[in-house]
Amino acid sequence: MWEIRGKKLNMLIDEESVAKRVRELAREIERDFSEAESEPVVVGLLKGAFVFVADLIRELRIPVIVDFLWVSSYGQSMESSGVIRIVKDLDTDLEGRWVLLVDDILDTGLTLKEIHTFLKSKRPRVLKTCVFLEKEGRKKVDFDPDYLGFKVPNRFLVGYGLDWGELGRNLKGIYAVEEKG
Ligand code: 5GP
Ligand code: MG
Repeated sequence: MWEIRGKKLNMLIDEESVAKRVRELAREIERDFSEAESEPVVVGLLKGAFVFVADLIRELRIPVIVDFLWVSSYGQSMESSGVIRIVKDLDTDLEGRWVLLVDDILDTGLTLKEIHTFLKSKRPRVLKTCVFLEKEGRKKVDFDPDYLGFKVPNRFLVGYGLDWGELGRNLKGIYAVEEKG
């Protein structure tokens, strides 16, 4: 049984189910993106999406360019404000390109919607979004990813890139941090 800082972790999605779902998403994505006129650009959001991006791109059987964007949201609160600050911008020019924005988890959706608007301003030809997890009943904005791995309950999750105070990113499955104890 895994623990972080004395809190138990309950497995929600095991390693095999993660890997299987990543393969399925890759099949959908490569089918849609095979129409692109030039190599698609996969834009991963740091830090949380780095593990998912690493697995997803290796399942894609089409040539892709990979870049990362690092943003932080303003404000102290636990919930995101939707106002973003660019920590590290892209190295790739997105103008006229087919772009796949990849993130780890959609909670309120405020952050991703803001980033989507930011990437749109770079005038890609096509901009689609792939999110590995989406919390049920939490969305505050009207934003649906084009590709979604799993819907998950409203718990605090770690693993597969998701952290709790920077720990837990290296777990191969998805775990909920136990609330009591
Ligand atoms: P949103 O703007 O959708 O509310 O926030 C999304 C971001 O909040 C995610 O990209 C992630 O960084 C963080 N987040 C939301 N829920 C969780 C969670 O259960 N666990 C972790 N580790 N991060 C989360
Ligand atoms: Mg994030």
